Amino acid sequence: MTDSPRMQRLIRFITIKAVFPLVLAAGKLIKADRDRLSARLIRLNNRLVIKMARQIKADQIIVILPHCLQNENCELKITSDIYKCKRCGRCDLEKLASAGERYNLSINIATGGSSAIRIVKEAKPQVIAAVACERDLISGIRDIYPIPVIGICNRRPDGPCRNTRVDISDIEEALRAAGGIRTTD
Ligand code: SF4
Repeated sequence: MTDSPRMQRLIRFITIKAVFPLVLAAGKLIKADRDRLSARLIRLNNRLVIKMARQIKADQIIVILPHCLQNENCELKITSDIYKCKRCGRCDLEKLASAGERYNLSINIATGGSSAIRIVKEAKPQVIAAVACERDLISGIRDIYPIPVIGICNRRPDGPCRNTRVDISDIEEALRAAGGIRTTD
């Protein structure tokens, strides 16, 4: 049986407002790994958002990336425009810029939480696909509620907030599932 849009909104409300804080508080009590727990909550949230997102248009989805995806030695300032990337291959912004052109995506780079909120206020999207660490994604999903956010966890081979990486296939998969990519290539 398919849930009605109203029921989907209610389930999401309960998930974000009650399940998230309860699970995170319980995890703290039992000293569970916060990132792993958060990743599970993000997957749960994503399933709910993708169900809802199927009802919206592709151009109403935006992508928000964290600034730390850019290689720290890159001399370019690309916070406002990812397409300034010269595609040198030192970081994943190369593939993201190419994917953005291929699929005609709205890709935005946030330098922090308030910058992400400003992007959302200006773009007024129906759905957001956001890349960040588990902690920032959990905060973002809660702060930006009720706008649905699909969270994609980054990788941090050099530690937090530095030269982070993301699998472009994870972003493509999320966008396809939500209807943000209509082509099949
Ligand atoms: S791929 Fe783009 S953003 Fe990354 S280091 Fe090279 S020019 Fe800079």
